[in-house]
Amino acid sequence: MAAVWELTKPQLKGRYAVTVYQEGWRLGGKGASGRGASGRIEEHGLHIWLGFYDNAFRMMRECHAELEAQGLGAMFGDWRDAWTPENDVALFSVAENGGFQRWDAHMPPRAGLPGDPLPAGEVFSLPYYMAKAFDLFRALLLDTTVDGRGLGPPSEGAGELGGAVAYLGRLASFAGVAALAEGLGVLATLLRSASQALDAGLLASAEAICSRLRLWLEDRWLADDENRFLWEVADLTLATMWGLIRHGVMFDPRGLDAIDDFECREWLHMNGASIRALQSPFLRGLYDLSMGYEDGDPNRPRLSAGQGLRGTLRTFFGYRGAFMWRMRAGMGDVVFAPLYEALTRRGVRFEFFHRLTNVGLPPKPVRGASDYVSRLAFDVQARTHDGAAYAPLVNVAGRPCWPSAPDWAQLADGARMSAEGWNLESHWDRRRAGERTLEVGRDFDLALLGVGLGAVPHVCPEILARDARWRRMVRDVKTVASQAFQVWLTEDLESLGWRGPAYITGAFAKPFDTWCDMPHVVPEEAWNTRPRTSVYFCAVLPDPPEPPDDSDRGYPARRAQEVHHTAQAFLQGPVREVWPGAFDISGEFRWEILADDGASLLSGPDRFSTQYWRANVNPSDRYVIHPPGSWRSRISPFDMTYDNFTIAGDWTDSGFHSGCVEGAVMSGLLAAHALSGSPKLEDIIAYDHP
Ligand SMILES: Cc1cc2nc3c(=O)[nH]c(=O)nc-3n(C[C@H](O)[C@H](O)[C@H](O)COP(=O)(O)OP(=O)(O)OC[C@H]3O[C@@H](n4cnc5c(N)ncnc54)[C@H](O)[C@@H]3O)c2cc1C
Repeated sequence: MAAVWELTKPQLKGRYAVTVYQEGWRLGGKGASGRGASGRIEEHGLHIWLGFYDNAFRMMRECHAELEAQGLGAMFGDWRDAWTPENDVALFSVAENGGFQRWDAHMPPRAGLPGDPLPAGEVFSLPYYMAKAFDLFRALLLDTTVDGRGLGPPSEGAGELGGAVAYLGRLASFAGVAALAEGLGVLATLLRSASQALDAGLLASAEAICSRLRLWLEDRWLADDENRFLWEVADLTLATMWGLIRHGVMFDPRGLDAIDDFECREWLHMNGASIRALQSPFLRGLYDLSMGYEDGDPNRPRLSAGQGLRGTLRTFFGYRGAFMWRMRAGMGDVVFAPLYEALTRRGVRFEFFHRLTNVGLPPKPVRGASDYVSRLAFDVQARTHDGAAYAPLVNVAGRPCWPSAPDWAQLADGARMSAEGWNLESHWDRRRAGERTLEVGRDFDLALLGVGLGAVPHVCPEILARDARWRRMVRDVKTVASQAFQVWLTEDLESLGWRGPAYITGAFAKPFDTWCDMPHVVPEEAWNTRPRTSVYFCAVLPDPPEPPDDSDRGYPARRAQEVHHTAQAFLQGPVREVWPGAFDISGEFRWEILADDGASLLSGPDRFSTQYWRANVNPSDRYVIHPPGSWRSRISPFDMTYDNFTIAGDWTDSGFHSGCVEGAVMSGLLAAHALSGSPKLEDIIAYDHP
């Protein structure tokens, strides 16, 4: 969508007539959401936007401004109302007594808003980040107290000998710390002005300071349960700084890709991180957030060091406004409905129910000439009555939204398809109304492939047969299935025993390690009896030993049934740790707190059937992870192997190799640039990030 947004910007004066071919009935892919019974928002999983998603937020701000200018502001509201800021996160670890221990991290709000022009002086360079980290350590050092006293000046009126002696004593115990703090200050200043030709002496000093800091950390800060979280973060930060210096990454032209062949935990360990820090909630949260588990197996965490650090640096040092942003409604409603409306008004055509089956090449490459895409083949899954344009949105509580199922009434033979249970988003359901082939020159000039990576082998068999790079890409850049469920509760989490401000929770018990309290979306739904809150749970889903056969139509339903059982067990199990009030005196989960608008009489665990759960097993819906070394196999939207063809998605070489909205948007901007020269590369925020 980001590429379409760019290619149809008014300044390009209608140079491109764009048609989007979309399988099924809705836009959004992994970020799609739908409205179900009671206007419930039903998501692929929890979607949070991080405070550094500058490119993504800028696009949405432009979209809202355009809708406002067209008189649709009242329908979509201001972009600032569509996201709510979030600065608190709760992380979990297993405490020394074996129970869960909770860590609440508060990230202070920062100046500006995501998508604002970058502030002067904000640069994406490793010395810049390093200087910031040294500043943080310096503040920490100066904040440290010994026997309740910090490194302050002598007390006023210290004419008395006693005061002077006490000050002298403090000076003695702080002498090393004060020098270290001073050293950090000087280093931070030098690093800020450092150039490529960084003096070897400066690096040596930085290394010496890091090793002093580590001694101080181990000496001064007890890693007991009380200080554990801070200690672990400090330990990891130190290992990172040390590693960046030792591995010569600071001015390596490859930037963080220089260490991207290393596994993140292994690299941190090589650079001095303690085992405890490597198992810390912070690091587990990073793997959970990026679903970095090979084949979805929680016992096989894998994330490359370069992208792990890039993501962490941008997350902690690059956010503006708030650390994270939660969407006010479903991602489909907040992102894809406004984009759809604005793009339709720009003249973009949407052909729903078109499933791409092959990106065709000419029979043989012509020697000396570039290859190109000659045909695009589609299954037409459904047709509307009389070929009318399909109207995809429904109105819920005054907001245009995507429904969770197609509007069968608009489709020829729709009643039969609905009765037969056609699943137009399932890879394993190939039922269709017909076929369609587009020919280059006649039907299109340029093509942009925007499917998820998991779908590439299924839609590009000819390219894969011809092109070793594409084969390597689909082999090395890996994906995982995911699982999610949502419950609507008649009681809020506070009354169930949850304490504290944090809504977002990571590093929790497997399998649903990530969950979020979402009371703010409930008023957007259309309940007769409004629940008090809605809670989203999300995680990876392990793959079966053998991939399912393409003809196995029942596969998605069987996996969804598995998620149903896992979710029930999870509510009965680890949830007890955080919502004790959700259990009755016999220790049973109080299933009656699951809201269902009075529609069912189900009780006990069966009542879970009234909630929402899903297994994201469709090839295109599989989450893109970033294992070590995979950066080499990513293909850029700039790749011009096929003259009239480019790619966009979070799986491409976009400069931010993470399965996330910002990576997908950056890729879309690059694809638009590859086709049209617009936007300028320097306008893609953080494309120059090391
Ligand atoms: C459970 C889950 C939770 C996530 N949480 C977050 C989060 O909190 N924050 C975040 O930033 N990111 C999150 N992500 C990642 C984010 O959703 C993706 O990075 C993003 O959606 C990728 O966009 P994309 O355009 O590359 O691919 P997709 O979103 O997969 O879009 C691909 C498009 O291609 C279409 N398509 C596929 N095959 C065909 C075909 N054969 N013919 C026609 N059309 C086809 C799909 O329908 C879809 O429209 C999450 C992902 C998952 C699965």
